[in-house]
Amino acid sequence: VKVIIIGASGQLGREIASLVPGSLLTYNSTPIPSGVKLDVSNELQVSDFILKNRPDVIINTSAITNVDKCEEDRELAYKVNAVSAKFITRSASVVGAYLVHISTDYVFDGEKGMYKEDDLPNPVNYYGLTKLLGETYVLSYDLSLVIRTSGVFGSKSNFPTFVMENLKRGNPVKVVRSIYSPIHAKMLAKAIVEILPQRRTGILNIAGERISREDLALMIARKLGAENLISVVPDSEMKWKARRPRDSSLDISRAKSIISFDFYDTEKNLMMG
Ligand code: NDP
Repeated sequence: VKVIIIGASGQLGREIASLVPGSLLTYNSTPIPSGVKLDVSNELQVSDFILKNRPDVIINTSAITNVDKCEEDRELAYKVNAVSAKFITRSASVVGAYLVHISTDYVFDGEKGMYKEDDLPNPVNYYGLTKLLGETYVLSYDLSLVIRTSGVFGSKSNFPTFVMENLKRGNPVKVVRSIYSPIHAKMLAKAIVEILPQRRTGILNIAGERISREDLALMIARKLGAENLISVVPDSEMKWKARRPRDSSLDISRAKSIISFDFYDTEKNLMMG
């Protein structure tokens, strides 16, 4: 099976790449060993690469994931998160490749939480809107799977590592009350790779257990005996450019019924690094 991983220089892409040896890897601005440079916003580059290589499977993990950056540079976010999905989908359909596309809990407004695959999206920021458009292009193709996930953490600077590093230095950590379903990139990669042979289509939530940032920070702090350093602040203190959903947690019961291991366990996810 010939697999292309688009965005293999990213947090999730590199973990999937390590589990699928022999796949063709692409990056954009962060070169990786034996990776091919591919800008997904360039239609010719995308179609050339896919039509020449004729993959059986394409996994697209590329995106502009910085939510505030998407709010500021809307054109870039639109190109990379939305329009590129159209280019990739079109080429995938020409070669008949199975297309797996990663999307986000931020397609929801966060008023309800525990979102199921068929709940109605209603993004509150530009990142969420562009990712929702991307999903729509991908789902116009029969042989595609959109995987929605949440709070991916791992190699990059992110919420759990931010909390851990600050607490270790004895710095106080301010957290907002928002709720989500964080998962380690390695765990998510393992789950995605396990279900690949099933060739499922449509939308599937794969994420961690529902937890508030406050509880997650406290869980980390407890291990370090530093609970007193955690304080909860209102969103307004964060000086964000983009609004965030209050509770974007995902209902993962469908994924639990088809994945053989406990990808959702918060403790186990935190233990991964
Ligand atoms: P990263 O930010 O770690 O990686 C993003 C990847 O996209 C990088 O490989 C980057 O390449 C690539 N990329 C960016 N712009 C372009 C471009 N113009 N052309 C080609 N590639 C490009 O993201 P994650 O691994 O954390 O996220 C993976 C997926 O999961 C994304 O679809 C994201 O929307 C989704 N997701 C992420 C969440 C999170 O908390 N991180 C939460 C929910 C969903 P390079 O670095 O080489 O420029």
